[in-house]
Amino acid sequence: MDAEIIAVGSEMLTPHRQDTNSLYLTEKLNDLGVEVRFKCIVGDSRDDLTAAAKLAMKRSDIILFSGGLGPTEDDLTREAVADALGLELQRDPEIVVKLEQRFAKRGMKMSANNSKQADVLTSADVLQNPAGTAPGQWISGKYDGQERILILLPGPPNELKAVFEGECISRLRERIPVQHIASRMLRIALMPESQVDARVAPIYKTYADVQTTILAGAGEIQLHLRTRNESQAAAEARVEELADKIEDELGDAIFSRKGESLEQIVSYLLQMRSMTLAVAESCTGGLLAQRITSLSGSSRYFLGGAIAYSNALKTQFANVPKALIDRHGAVSREVAEALAEGIRKRCVSSYGIGITGVAGPTGGTEQKPIGLVYVALAGEEGTQVVERNFPGDRKRIRWFASQQALEMVRRALL
Ligand code: ATP
Ligand code: MG
Repeated sequence: MDAEIIAVGSEMLTPHRQDTNSLYLTEKLNDLGVEVRFKCIVGDSRDDLTAAAKLAMKRSDIILFSGGLGPTEDDLTREAVADALGLELQRDPEIVVKLEQRFAKRGMKMSANNSKQADVLTSADVLQNPAGTAPGQWISGKYDGQERILILLPGPPNELKAVFEGECISRLRERIPVQHIASRMLRIALMPESQVDARVAPIYKTYADVQTTILAGAGEIQLHLRTRNESQAAAEARVEELADKIEDELGDAIFSRKGESLEQIVSYLLQMRSMTLAVAESCTGGLLAQRITSLSGSSRYFLGGAIAYSNALKTQFANVPKALIDRHGAVSREVAEALAEGIRKRCVSSYGIGITGVAGPTGGTEQKPIGLVYVALAGEEGTQVVERNFPGDRKRIRWFASQQALEMVRRALL
């Protein structure tokens, strides 16, 4: 069974508010084995809402409305659904009494427009709202020969959750054939999306029953695999099989199969090997340390380090010889190396990382353009330095540099 979510509210068509209710609903529906095939956001217009409802009735088995059930003029979901389905609205006196009691309990008198919230579509079941005034509504039946379920939910996120969890999940479970969804998220650092896709597309294309999506982020590619089956075990086995084949192709490039972050994987590996890390950061200004220490328990493997932004502090904190900086410049292979080795020695850590680069947007030259970054990793076996030319703005270049450093630690620990 497939679902469609219609989020109602003109505020979500502005740059100021996002529709988060649909993310919540999607997660809950997936848990029930229901895929969301369409989502839309509609402003507070009765005609637009009616059109959206009619379209949804044509193509989706389950249609969930979020919002527009309040007492004000612009709350029009009930009216629009009535228009779309050719149903009447009837004021339910029981709900009116409940609304009045709710107001009385708070020492307030209910204003007349609130009784609008007691308008119920003919044939609808009322869904109790323990968290607010507007109850939800549930309508199921055949429309144009197709079995349909319509669910009207209040917009405030806490109310929507209360009604959905209290009234909808068990009802849906009774009506939906048992389906289970299994998913995997494979994560790959610092590989171009086109390259990943060229290598894995021939594999995932042979798994038509597994939905595969490639998402590219800064310095990372995610492969999302999903499938559904009547049996959870069968669904799990199917995504696992595809994940195995993709891993055979990409090998070590995959840093995570369960969605863990790169810093999380580095954390596991350092702890497994009882090793420690220290950093000397220039252009990332502490971003790497921030990422590493965002995990609780990082004190077990992260000793600390320095933000060695000025040349003087590169010398003072990481013993980078002044002459070396004068000869090669602060952004150089040699200085990155010296930062990594210097901080390793200074902090007495298993590994030391040095990062230096031009994050921009100013400060680039022909020899040292914006995006040029050197990342060095010093360890017992010696020091390796990587030179990269990262694209993008300052934020992206700094993120890429931290990603590069974490990836080097991960690879060294494999
Ligand atoms: P109310 O009785 O408060 O008027 P309602 O059912 O009419 O309830 P809305 O008026 O649409 O709901 O929204 C009420 C509040 O919930 C607003 O603050 C709105 O921003 C928030 N909200 C509505 N829809 C969503 C959504 N899809 N995601 C996140 N927040 C939402
Ligand atoms: Mg409202």
